[in-house]
Amino acid sequence: TRILLQRSEALALLGQMAAGIAHEIRNPLTSISGFIQLLQVNQHENQYIAIVESELERINNIVGDFLDLSKPKEVALKEQNIEHVLKEVIALLNLKTKNHNIQITEQYESNLPDFYIDKNQMKQVFLNLLKNSMEAMPNGGQIKIVVNKGHHEQVLITIKDEGVGIPKEQLSILGQPFITTKENGTGLGLLICYKIIESHKGTLKVDSKVNEGTTVSISMPVSIINERKLNV
Ligand code: ADP
Ligand code: MG
Repeated sequence: TRILLQRSEALALLGQMAAGIAHEIRNPLTSISGFIQLLQVNQHENQYIAIVESELERINNIVGDFLDLSKPKEVALKEQNIEHVLKEVIALLNLKTKNHNIQITEQYESNLPDFYIDKNQMKQVFLNLLKNSMEAMPNGGQIKIVVNKGHHEQVLITIKDEGVGIPKEQLSILGQPFITTKENGTGLGLLICYKIIESHKGTLKVDSKVNEGTTVSISMPVSIINERKLNV
């Protein structure tokens, strides 16, 4: 009976997600078809083309994020240097940060232990979080990354921005799908972060103050391999 229950739970969840994505994609599709009709009447309305492009980008974002969410939860753990991983992500954002007047500073405690992570998945976490910070600072600003050794073989990573911040009501529902304040947002980025950090047996916490900024704190075990061995 436990298996049956799990299966029906899984189906219920799948149904919810399917309804969510169908709804989220239908909105921009409706808008695209409306503007295409207007373009047929007046072919010189360039702003309609921009809207159609923006709506297509939104659909593309939703589908991309959903693919990330549906990837198997299993993690390919390898020993990684946290500083190298973060620097790779920052390099990816180089052009965007320059164009948007954003400065990223990094501070690493000396002698940080290498830790066992799925590099691609953790890069995705950092990318999502840094993007959120950048999007919260439309006029530019500073993002501060600090990495420390924590207690009990943990590594602590904080990402702090000077952005618009998150109102209290929204903080309590953070990580729920499709809650976004952005025109082309999906409201899936943080959910992906939570999922990946959880599969690494870590924790992710968001502190924020409106008009002051947001701090995301991640705590990760240096190695979950020992823990796994104990569990076998
Ligand atoms: P998306 O970025 O597509 O909207 P996310 O799951 O990444 O989806 O974020 C959900 C919402 O949380 C954002 O729309 C935004 O309102 C809020 N948020 C997340 N990170 C930050 C941040 N660093 N500063 C301000 N608001 C944020
Ligand atoms: Mg995001």
